[in-house]
Amino acid sequence: MSPVEIIKTAQKMGLRAIAITDHDTVDGSVEALRHQHSCDLEILPGIEISASFDPGTMHILGYLIRLDDVALTQTLKVLQKSRADRNLQILKRLQGLGIDISCDEVLGVSGGGQIGRPHIAQVLVNKRVVQSIDQAFNKFLAKGRHAYVARYRLPPFEAIQAILLAGGVPVLAHPFTLNVRAEGEMDRLLADLKQAGLKGLEVYCSGYGPDRTAMYKRLAHRHGLLVTGGTDYHGTIKPGVHIGIGRGNLRIPYRLVEELKQSASQVVSDLDKGLL
Ligand SMILES: [Zn+2]
Repeated sequence: MSPVEIIKTAQKMGLRAIAITDHDTVDGSVEALRHQHSCDLEILPGIEISASFDPGTMHILGYLIRLDDVALTQTLKVLQKSRADRNLQILKRLQGLGIDISCDEVLGVSGGGQIGRPHIAQVLVNKRVVQSIDQAFNKFLAKGRHAYVARYRLPPFEAIQAILLAGGVPVLAHPFTLNVRAEGEMDRLLADLKQAGLKGLEVYCSGYGPDRTAMYKRLAHRHGLLVTGGTDYHGTIKPGVHIGIGRGNLRIPYRLVEELKQSASQVVSDLDKGLL
């Protein structure tokens, strides 16, 4: 969806604020902020950066970053190039497996934004090579599958620092995808990430039950991390997940946005004082 479509949907849902946190690009945030004045919705600019982490998937959100930060722009360019190279390699592998798929077809479903594996998966669904996005990942695109290609990712410390230096608040996204299930292990990981400058943990996520949410809340409090929430809305790529309510029961209080903004002011003040 385009930023304007997202804003319209959020307004229909009666939301007070949304964050736009695309992977490896701030174009959507820039575009959304252009419409801020004409709507009564508060828009938080942001980014989502994939960090290297072996047990599972680590995404670091950067809320309220300065969108024109020079160093961050450079970092994102490197990530975008590795993403583009990797997309081509994935397509070559799929073609090698006898699947007729072209770059233009993937561009066609991306809507002009960043292109990633979900878009390739969408083309595979459209062409009836597979029946669902999940199946496309399980059969071809997930780590270890036939068309998987690794790409360059920032080490977690560098991702956190890049966000802080751009005046943003680094938050560990959807912690369940880390594949770190035991609370003690999560404890050690969060201690390290906090040391690296992490400020928050995404406690409220689409599909997390009360037990899982309670554990992440406990961990956030123990490590003095902000509690945040997000639906991880991805349009038709994640069917069943809706803006603002996730899988139907997600409610994220505005208070968390206020805490996020306070944290961002603290980051900017620390930067000014040369503390970061
Ligand atoms: Zn993510």
